[in-house]
Amino acid sequence: MNKISKLAVLTSGGDAPGMNPCIRAVVRTALYNGIEVVGVRQGYKGLIENDMYDMDKRSVSNILNLGGTILKTARCLPFKEDEGMAIAYKHLKERGIDGLVVIGGDGTFTGALRFSRKYPDIAVMGVPGTIDNDLYGSTYTLGFDTATNTVIQAIDKIRDTADAHDRLFFIEVMGRDSGAIALRAGISCGAEAILLPEKQTALEDLIKNLKEGKSNKKSSSIVIVAEGDKNGGVYDVAKAVQQEVKDYDVKVTILGHLQRGGSPSSFDRILGSRLGFAAVNALIAGESQKMVGLQANHILLTSLDDALNNHEFKLEADLLQMADILSI
Ligand code: ADP
Repeated sequence: MNKISKLAVLTSGGDAPGMNPCIRAVVRTALYNGIEVVGVRQGYKGLIENDMYDMDKRSVSNILNLGGTILKTARCLPFKEDEGMAIAYKHLKERGIDGLVVIGGDGTFTGALRFSRKYPDIAVMGVPGTIDNDLYGSTYTLGFDTATNTVIQAIDKIRDTADAHDRLFFIEVMGRDSGAIALRAGISCGAEAILLPEKQTALEDLIKNLKEGKSNKKSSSIVIVAEGDKNGGVYDVAKAVQQEVKDYDVKVTILGHLQRGGSPSSFDRILGSRLGFAAVNALIAGESQKMVGLQANHILLTSLDDALNNHEFKLEADLLQMADILSI
């Protein structure tokens, strides 16, 4: 017998391509197993405002290819308060909901874990949906692959114009605390340097490296700067470098929100489907306060506590070293 009879699904925090394939998998896996499904609009806000609707098989037709999230997402401060959680709980209980799938990043999981500890009769399962790829327990998070591909396409175009004019481009990519997109994009586009929140790069070293590149007949250079780099932001870095590297025409591009959009890649469609499928099956098996994640191409469970607090997860040092060597 199912431990769950009715579940709710929501997307919360930053949106990520791949959330829709995941919602589809959650809805259809649940229905297949005789579990009713309720879609919650705008994350925790929808729980508090009782903005939810019954979903059927056709509610998730033709959404595999859509970026964003059909359930919408939001940031919701009242859910951080006890009163907000109590209202959310009341609305879930009134509807007879006994399971909740939350698709989001670390903020979403923090909320889910607090909620579930207060109200353990509603089982909670997390799906790592964030372009930042910064959660312990899943080698890749949903949306990271698509976002990185979007960044790569943009940088390839910038490289064309950089090369035509002997330009040095500083390109800011998303990642306030995570250099995952910057590192992968840097390797994929042959960036001359990659500045990351996880590793301080001295400006003198960057300038020396760019001067060497110029004297080695490089006709253009690309420096990728993650949002969270500790050198004061992309404009400050570009200004400091321009003062020292006079024979390059220095330009700055901030890729911004285009990195969140777009049709999910094949990888994210499959990952979203697998994670959604696994999340419902884990709830059926009686699990709670856990996250489904991809590890060595298997979907495994990690406690939400570990996903949030295990800091063993680090950017791969071997990739950083390789990027430096391959860009000489
Ligand atoms: P992400 O999930 O992408 O990291 P946020 O950090 O914005 O995004 O978190 C999403 C939502 O999760 C917040 O708007 C809030 O409703 C909820 N949340 C975040 N932190 C907490 C917390 N400490 N307690 C309860 N809810 C939280």
